[in-house]
Amino acid sequence: MPEKRRIGVMGGTFDPIHNGHLVAASEVASALSLEEVLFVPTGKPWQKQEVSSAEDRYLMTVVATASNPQFKVSRVDIDRPGITYTVDTLTELKEQFPDADLFFISGADAIAQIIAWKDVDAVWDLAHFVAVSRPGHKLKLPKAPNGAISELEVPALSISSTDVRKRVGEGKPIWYLVPDGVVQYISKHHLYGS
Ligand code: NAP
Repeated sequence: MPEKRRIGVMGGTFDPIHNGHLVAASEVASALSLEEVLFVPTGKPWQKQEVSSAEDRYLMTVVATASNPQFKVSRVDIDRPGITYTVDTLTELKEQFPDADLFFISGADAIAQIIAWKDVDAVWDLAHFVAVSRPGHKLKLPKAPNGAISELEVPALSISSTDVRKRVGEGKPIWYLVPDGVVQYISKHHLYGS
């Protein structure tokens, strides 16, 4: 039997995508021997308002990942109407990649929220979960089947989207926190009060 493909599914609002996300994806891909990582910008985030348009977040993600052949971007969440639930994301991707093992990667807090969601039992059959966190971030993940979630500390995740947005609003530089093309996209499209 040929070995199954191993595909990372990097879920996030990416408002904006930053270098911490890119380092996290690269670290997980290396640690878990993933063939590729599919970045999936959220369509309408769960319990969140006031985010940039899905199209802006999608395009920034495309710009940020363009130079890495191992990174791809999927529109599944932004093209599906309604609020984004991870169970729907993974069900759709499982149909697109029936022969692959999926590894859903996201922030540890986001994974805790997904687990707290009502349809959670369905997700364990769809993917393995990888919770990435910044150093010193203590988190108690709710109950999950044995081995269903891996955790990985990523120092570069001290960068956060909230901080990037705040810096733009205050006229501070964001060079080297986000890829150059994302700095230019934010400025060109006047995002975050730039
Ligand atoms: P969030 O609550 O905005 O993020 C929580 C924390 O995780 C933040 O510190 C955030 O930092 C970080 N984070 C988010 N995505 C990350 C990623 N891919 N890699 C590393 N750190 C990440 O989370 P969100 O962005 O709205 O949602 C993340 C994913 O979980 C999405 O795919 C979303 O659809 C899914 N989700 C699903 C449900 C559900 O099914 N009920 C509920 C919540 C989230 P930054 O702000 O710097 O990214």
